[in-house]
Amino acid sequence: MKKTISIITPMYNEEENIALCHQRITDIMTSLSEYDYEIIFINDGSKDSSWDLMTVIAQKDPHFKPINFARNFGQQVSTTAGLTFCKGDYAFIIDGDLQHPPELFPTMLEKCVNEGYDSVYVEQHSKKNISFIKKYTSKIFYGFFNFLSSVHIPPNTGDFRIINRKMIDIYLAMPEKHKFIRGQFAWMGFKQCSIPLELPIREHGETKFTFIKSLNLALDGLFSFSFAPVRFIFLITFLMCSLTGLLLFSAIITLFFGQNYFIGFGGIVLLLLTLSSLILYSIGIIGEYIIRIYIQSLDRPVFTISDKLNFDKESFKA
Ligand code: UDP
Ligand code: MG
Repeated sequence: MKKTISIITPMYNEEENIALCHQRITDIMTSLSEYDYEIIFINDGSKDSSWDLMTVIAQKDPHFKPINFARNFGQQVSTTAGLTFCKGDYAFIIDGDLQHPPELFPTMLEKCVNEGYDSVYVEQHSKKNISFIKKYTSKIFYGFFNFLSSVHIPPNTGDFRIINRKMIDIYLAMPEKHKFIRGQFAWMGFKQCSIPLELPIREHGETKFTFIKSLNLALDGLFSFSFAPVRFIFLITFLMCSLTGLLLFSAIITLFFGQNYFIGFGGIVLLLLTLSSLILYSIGIIGEYIIRIYIQSLDRPVFTISDKLNFDKESFKA
């Protein structure tokens, strides 16, 4: 029996890219004739005509299986929905703006099938098509993340990858509501490798990752894969205790020896301000963990779906 490959693509306001993206994926997948395939586009609450376009393509192409979210849930959750409903022995995760060329599929698949890799991901080596701010914030994030976390994520890695069924099933068994896909796959271990990619520019439209969306993703990654932020509070407490000890010592010297070693009123105000900011910072860090525990305990579904086309009846579980 033929093995199946699923292609999972989150789409948010990508009306200009949908037809071209579907066409380029189809061209590649028909050339891999020894495999069956399905193309799953997730319409992540787009406000443009994305869903209408997907409906039209779905009528002509039975391999095309679009999912329509009831609202915008974000790229990580859209990808999770694709992984939930895909039936492939392998799945490719790619962006819908064609910055992740489907023409790389055969090379990536070959590494899994012939070299036994469980996952092959893409490292974006040349970043000339990424904005200055994105390039440097991402550099700082990965540096910070890999310094703090026991899970190593190679810098310049996005979500473009192929994974086998074993990794898909483990991903689906991971209960966290805050998804950080590249971290979750890195956490699993197994046999993984990268291939380089010179990132092409977006085919049409603008980036859908606003600064806030990128920041939220970075925070989810950091708080899900590292205890360092909370441990950092210990370090600060130690520093503050040492500083308070010094202050006390200088006050005693001033009192007994009349020498003016005391830091004075200005110094005390500065110290109090620093101390209160650090306390607020610590509460903020703990708050981030509490938010995540709270969301987890609510146990809401991660996404809601209003339509699914061309799926078999038995895969209708949400
Ligand atoms: N995307 C999504 N939901 C969102 C934001 C983005 O499904 O809320 C999709 C988007 O349509 C694209 C992919 O995620 O297919 C990556 O987004 P984008 O290309 O804008 O990110 P960038 O490449 O600029 O980091
Ligand atoms: Mg993009």
